[in-house]
Amino acid sequence: MRKVYLDNNATTPLCPQVVRAMLPYLKTHFGNASSIHAFGREAKTAIESSREKVAGLLNCHPEEIYFTSGGTESDNLALKGVAFANRDKGRHLITSSIEHHAVLESCHFLETQGFEVTYLPVDRSGVVSPEDLRKAIREDTVLVSIMHGNNEVGTIQPIAELSKTARDAGVYFHSDTVQSTGKLKIDVEEMGIDLLSLSAHKLYGPKGVGAIYVRSGTRITPLFHGGHHERNYRAGTENVAGIVGLGAAIEICSKEIDAEYRYLMDLSISFYEGLKEKIPDILLNGDFENRLPGTLNISFKGVEAEAVILSLDLEGVAVASGSACTSGSAEPSHVLEAMGVAPELARSAVRFSFGRFNTKKDVDYVLKALPPIIERLRAMSPVESLNR
Ligand SMILES: *Cc1c(COP(=O)(O)O)cnc(C)c1O
Repeated sequence: MRKVYLDNNATTPLCPQVVRAMLPYLKTHFGNASSIHAFGREAKTAIESSREKVAGLLNCHPEEIYFTSGGTESDNLALKGVAFANRDKGRHLITSSIEHHAVLESCHFLETQGFEVTYLPVDRSGVVSPEDLRKAIREDTVLVSIMHGNNEVGTIQPIAELSKTARDAGVYFHSDTVQSTGKLKIDVEEMGIDLLSLSAHKLYGPKGVGAIYVRSGTRITPLFHGGHHERNYRAGTENVAGIVGLGAAIEICSKEIDAEYRYLMDLSISFYEGLKEKIPDILLNGDFENRLPGTLNISFKGVEAEAVILSLDLEGVAVASGSACTSGSAEPSHVLEAMGVAPELARSAVRFSFGRFNTKKDVDYVLKALPPIIERLRAMSPVESLNR
């Protein structure tokens, strides 16, 4: 049976060149980067080379990049780190209602620690309004955190406009760019970003490694205390092989970014056109144009997303409902809810996320497998029979 992986927003396969770059650091180059002997220096050099690659992609200085264990840690460090370091200025933060749980749960934690958080609404396609942000900023606001590309629906936020609103008011601006790094051009200067989170396993690198960009001069308190790693921002012996993998993955993305954008956009468009042709009553959640090129979130009226996922799984096709973190729970997606998608349509929403290794053959295969599944599920559905 053919295997088709359309869940690249949950995680991506490792790129073979990335594996090749990492292997020596799992075998012979095992030194601790803090050691001053040759083994240590070799590891240290590799880490600094990765730091330069990440900085090159984001247009910042290498000293403004700190390696972490991934997107979740970077988000936690940005939110809690800035909140705790700037308590003398104020205790108010602003975010959006469609953020990843790493941001939302950090905010919920901060609320138990005496901080106040404003959760901005989004419009029907999932966009935050800069005007809403301007109105929410207060004298005591210390941080605004708005993601770049949404992991569930792919909608892209007007980051430059939002950050200008924040920074004109003297407020730090953080963006979770875990889904957009390597897929969309990111320039922290042009986009006015003070802090940014990224993760290797969303861009064909290994799991358990990521980075945070912190603009020099930003006041931030570390989460981990221990050795002097990462210039005291992140204690703990560096994940050298992982960091090398992140650097290699970033390097490939930098080279391919335009071609890959076009490739994924074309692939997802041909999939969407095909679906519309073959299956009636489907609805795109999010924006058709203003989205991550590989992400399509589609509601199939009258069916449960879980049933679609399990049926596709039997055909060798991997897709998701809502975000990976909420699968297995019956909770409707907080993102679709914030966008005003009706609960029954939200429950029928399936996320197809394409990646570098998908082909037109994959698209054709799913376009053949899916229509009979939807037809069968609709015929069985009590909701649908009531409607008829
Ligand atoms: C995957 C993801 C994260 C979490 O990153 P990890 O490296 O898996 O911890 C954070 N934000 C967004 C938008 C994501 O898609």
